[in-house]
Amino acid sequence: MAAERRVRLAILGSGPAGYTAAIYAARAGLAPLLVQGLQPGGQLAITTEVENFPGFPEPILGPELMERMAAQARRCGAELVADVAVAVALHERPFRILLDSGDRILCDALIIATGAQARWLGLESETRFRGFGVSSCATCDGFFFRGRTVAVVGGGNTAVEEALYLSRLCAKVYLVHRRDALRAEKVLQERLFAEPKIEPVWNHVVEEILGSEEPRAVTGVRLRHVHTGARRELAVEGVFVAIGHDPATALFKNQLDMDAEGYIVTPPGSTQTSVPGVFACGDVQDKRFRQAVTAAGSGCMAALEADRWLAELGAT
Ligand SMILES: Cc1cc2nc3c(=O)[nH]c(=O)nc-3n(C[C@H](O)[C@H](O)[C@H](O)COP(=O)(O)OP(=O)(O)OC[C@H]3O[C@@H](n4cnc5c(N)ncnc54)[C@H](O)[C@@H]3O)c2cc1C
Repeated sequence: MAAERRVRLAILGSGPAGYTAAIYAARAGLAPLLVQGLQPGGQLAITTEVENFPGFPEPILGPELMERMAAQARRCGAELVADVAVAVALHERPFRILLDSGDRILCDALIIATGAQARWLGLESETRFRGFGVSSCATCDGFFFRGRTVAVVGGGNTAVEEALYLSRLCAKVYLVHRRDALRAEKVLQERLFAEPKIEPVWNHVVEEILGSEEPRAVTGVRLRHVHTGARRELAVEGVFVAIGHDPATALFKNQLDMDAEGYIVTPPGSTQTSVPGVFACGDVQDKRFRQAVTAAGSGCMAALEADRWLAELGAT
């Protein structure tokens, strides 16, 4: 039978932002209830080695890192629930959350840490080589391709930034774009065109990621010219797909202020949203850094701000 729970603080999302918020909130005595969502552990639960999260001198596997965060949150006193929020009402006090199981949560404060998902090309070969040469994050994985030749796919700001970042590490970077001009800001384009290690490949789409099976590794990409249909192959060891991200914010549409791309808007230096008592942290409100450690940092901020807000409300 569906149950209704009344808590002071609920947290949606179990990535680095949500778990860090849970650790801080639990240690502040708020006994938070965290709803894990469809992907317990968030984006890092689907990656292989993480080399840039502080505190791990040796690379740690993404799923293991997230299991450790979950265990730490539990030990500190957070309750983790394997369920998904399917509706929220933020115009009511307390806020109401309906879960997929039919259970309901009523809460005085809410932390949204539902993250974002990278957009992919949708190729079978892309899925097969994800984590084995195919990536959506140059800051995360560029280091593994030092001195190698890689391709970046896309034509917006992110693609150009990824290509520039990789050009400082890699021997050569192809920028594959389906049009003959970039959408990126002019200043970024100028930096890109001035970088001799980057070669734009105009009017081409990726048709297949090429690679070997044992060991599983990328060896190239097959491209198709969008006008002539002519095919060509590039020998690359890494492919960075940079065609955008989708923040998981559909639930909050028309209830919270969002930018044109659907990211929840928070003021600089704060996680407060347009509804007092609702806080947003991690990739759901950050399209600039998109890192586990920055998500964790803003999860900490959200918990501290929620604690202060609840104290002012007199609910603690
Ligand atoms: C393949 C890959 C490799 C990466 N490697 C690195 C790396 O090496 N280093 C690094 O710093 N960063 C890396 N990143 C980026 C990093 O994973 C993200 O920046 C970080 O996970 C963002 O954390 P988050 O908590 O904001 O959101 P996410 O990790 O996206 O987690 C979102 C959470 O919200 C939950 N959720 C969504 N909708 C709902 C709902 N309706 N109800 C309840 N819960 C919901 C999901 O289940 C998930 O648990 C990588 C990303 C990817 C995809």
